[in-house]
Amino acid sequence: MSVNVEKFRCPSNHKCPSVKVCPTGALVQKGFDAPDVIDDLCINCGKCIRFCPHGVFSKGDAK
Ligand code: SF4
Repeated sequence: MSVNVEKFRCPSNHKCPSVKVCPTGALVQKGFDAPDVIDDLCINCGKCIRFCPHGVFSKGDAK
């Protein structure tokens, strides 16, 4: 399971604050693009959801 990323919500003009709070390194940001989630690393803890002020991340479905 992993979080969903709705990239259209990201203004893509800053360093993503959620990357720093992810405990597993599951978020990867190239430049100022909206981050990608490495599904195998994400434990669905929800920290990135709370840190992103634009609501880019949302809980993924349990698989
Ligand atoms: S839910 Fe947790 S583990 Fe998954 S990307 Fe967000 S902060 Fe990282």
